[in-house]
Amino acid sequence: MIADSMVSLVKNSSVIRAMFEEGNRLAKLYGAENVYDFSLGNPNVPAPAEVNEAVKDIVDNEESTFIHGYMSNAGYEDVRQTIAESLNRRFGTHFNHTNIVMTVGAAGGLNTIFKTLLNPGEEVMTFAPFFGEYRNYVSNFGGKLVVVSPNTVDFQPKLDEFEAKITPKTRAVIVNNPNNPTGVVYSEDTIKKMAAIMDKKQKEYGTEIYLIADEPYRELAYDGVDVPYLTKYYDNTIVGYSYSKSLSLPGERIGYLVIPDEVTDSEDVKSAASVATRILGFVNAPSLMQRVVAKCVDAQVNLEAYDKNRKAIYEGLTKLGFECVKPEGAFYLFVKSPVEDETVFCEAAKKHNILMVPASSFGCPGYVRIAYCVSYDTIVNSLPHFAEVAKEMGL
Ligand code: PLP
Repeated sequence: MIADSMVSLVKNSSVIRAMFEEGNRLAKLYGAENVYDFSLGNPNVPAPAEVNEAVKDIVDNEESTFIHGYMSNAGYEDVRQTIAESLNRRFGTHFNHTNIVMTVGAAGGLNTIFKTLLNPGEEVMTFAPFFGEYRNYVSNFGGKLVVVSPNTVDFQPKLDEFEAKITPKTRAVIVNNPNNPTGVVYSEDTIKKMAAIMDKKQKEYGTEIYLIADEPYRELAYDGVDVPYLTKYYDNTIVGYSYSKSLSLPGERIGYLVIPDEVTDSEDVKSAASVATRILGFVNAPSLMQRVVAKCVDAQVNLEAYDKNRKAIYEGLTKLGFECVKPEGAFYLFVKSPVEDETVFCEAAKKHNILMVPASSFGCPGYVRIAYCVSYDTIVNSLPHFAEVAKEMGL
């Protein structure tokens, strides 16, 4: 007997697992090189050399009981200070180690901050399309996710609807920039307007509304596009960062929260986040990986590989007549389904061994997500098959 709340969660998860298994099944049947699996956001670009060197250096030269031991729940102080200084250099902020809580990736960080902030029945707002796990992270703590409908013109948030949906129960707003699944970067103009609305509503209701910046894709931005650092625009901002994509370390589970001093009741929020990390069962972020990322604060995955893929898939599909959102960041392409029900499009593509994710799971039916963190050859070789699908769909 499992908990009632888990029954539907298991059912939903099995859809994703089914897609994963479908990829494996097709690979066995036709050979991996003949399957074009664009379903998973699992980085294909290796971690930078600095990561390997750091691991070796640390295990060879630091004391075992130190590198594998417990530390304070918020993480090693020197690691947090190194990260704070790196942020200050890059964004002109003024953080120190007390503003950083090391987390078990972005997922761990978001669960930690929702545990810290949410009372049952309170609302968290987000903008569709959005990372589907938000729904679970919020409901884990009895919160309710309130979704602002998608603006399918340019996929910047719909600010009128946002303002109208803020209530006295709104505790937080979560934004993901660059965005999964669209690849769009919310502009500085958007962020300034969003901050002004939130300031106004805080005053109107006499509440604190926290802005949570979910930023695992911050470093994956192309053509020199500016990704605004949100703490500069709104005092009650908390940043959730992860090295899963920026250093290609998703299985290592390492990231951090930034809780600036400007946040209302900052000291309480910081202490509560450290306690939340512990009692959620994380205890602390993985110790070896904390020490590794501190040595790699200036390292970067090979962004050119993603950029080359981005151009190839965007240009390839656009030429075939598919309507695609021009991606400026992350490693996703968001494509309008040529037929109203995007699952029909996904099924048609699957017959050509192409796997894509229907965007209903991101709160945006009628679109599909293509994760282009695959080999360049996969993209090039998939294009003739996409051409067949385009023909069948009447493009
Ligand atoms: N937030 C977004 C928008 C993501 O796309 C992901 C992972 O794909 C996460 C959070 C979770 O990242 P992590 O692996 O660091 O927990």
